[in-house]
Order: sequence, then structure tokens, then C-alpha cells
Amino acid sequence: MAQVIKMAYLYEDLMNTYGDSGDVKILSYLLKKQGYDTQVDNISIDTADFNALDYDFLFFGGGQDFEQTVVAKDLRRFKATITTYIEAGKPMLAICGGYQLLGDYYETSEGTTIKGLGILPLHTIFKADSRMIGDTEFETEWGTVRAFENHSGRTYFDDPTKLKPLGKMVTGYGNNPEDGVEGMRYKGVIGSYAHGPLLKNVNLAQGITEKILACYRDRTAALTK
Ligand code: GLN
Repeated sequence: MAQVIKMAYLYEDLMNTYGDSGDVKILSYLLKKQGYDTQVDNISIDTADFNALDYDFLFFGGGQDFEQTVVAKDLRRFKATITTYIEAGKPMLAICGGYQLLGDYYETSEGTTIKGLGILPLHTIFKADSRMIGDTEFETEWGTVRAFENHSGRTYFDDPTKLKPLGKMVTGYGNNPEDGVEGMRYKGVIGSYAHGPLLKNVNLAQGITEKILACYRDRTAALTK
């Protein structure tokens, strides 16, 4: 029987402007090479119910401000299940707009505030006059990562004892122009501003693949008990 890794793509139809679906395609390719099939479910506005614990990986890609506003409103109904999944240490990758929405809030330059899920102690301030756009390079636990960033939101950690950066900047801005760091790690969650897609960096993609396989083994072992 084929072994099927289940991935939930949060709002694939709305949060997909920056080509981040490539991250999911790369992970599927790497898992296939190891003999696994993948099933990717779009969890969106028309999804009646969603239990994150049925999945081995959650993905939340980047999006533009308008889509983020729409998604932020709907997303709240999944807060409990996503929190349980994250606190259980299961793997998730959130890019740019998705990363921002895991935090407390996203304040736009007009002074309006998009409420995030509030799972991670971080917040984002939008600065319209200085978009952070260009090639990035940063050092991570898995080695050097090269990507592309394109965001006006500046993200700040509110509890640095809880959150760790994904990497240290060599080139580009990352979370904001001041801190010299890129992205965030909390338990099994990686947040990042890196597009490109990020997982064209196979070192990092392999690291995430291992976490997904461990999650799959736990989930399927629990099912057969
Ligand atoms: N709209 C957000 C920003 O500019 C997110 C952009 C993105 O997801 N690339 O910060």
C-alpha cells in the first residue's frame, strides 16, 4: 500500500502570489524520491472543518495585503487546531504573509490593524515608503540559504526567549532593517520572508523533509494502535 504523506496548504487559492507553492512541490518531489506519495489539501474559506492533527505538514504562503485581510478573518476559526498542532511540535512552514499572520497583529501604514492568529509572540508593522525587496542570503542551522524577499512588513519578536531566528543575515533585510536576522523558529514551525521559492535551498528542504517523515511515522503509528 502506498504511503501517503498528508500536507495542508492554508489558503492556497488566496495566499499564492509569490510562487511559494514551489516549496510544497519541492517537498513532494523529495518525499516521492524516498518512496512516499503526497496529498496536498487546500484549506480555505470553503473548508467546512479542518483538524490539523490529520496532517504531517502545514504550509502557509505569502500574500498581498488585501488577501491577507480576507484570510485573517476566516483563519480565526482554525486557531485552536493550528495551536494544538504547533504546540505538539509538528512541522510547519509559513512564508512572508503567512508568517506575519501567525503573530499578534499586522499594522498597516494607514493605521489599520490586521489581527493575526496570536499563536507566536511577534508583530509586524507595514512601512509603505521602504519596501524590502531583493536577493537575500543568510546562515542557518542547515547552512547557507539564498533567496529573494519582497515585503513592506517589518516583523519584531515580542518574546525573544520563546522565538529564535531562522538565520543570521549576510545580504538583505530579513525580519526588519534593524535586527540582522531572518525568519523565526518555534518548536517545529519555521517562518521566513524568503521566496524563490525558499526550498530550492535543498539543505533546508532536506531538514524539513526529515521532520515531516518523523511526524508521518508518529501519526500512522498512532492510527494502528
Ligand atoms: N503584504 C505583506 C508585506 O508586504 C506580505 C508580502 C508577502 O507575502 N510577500 O509585508
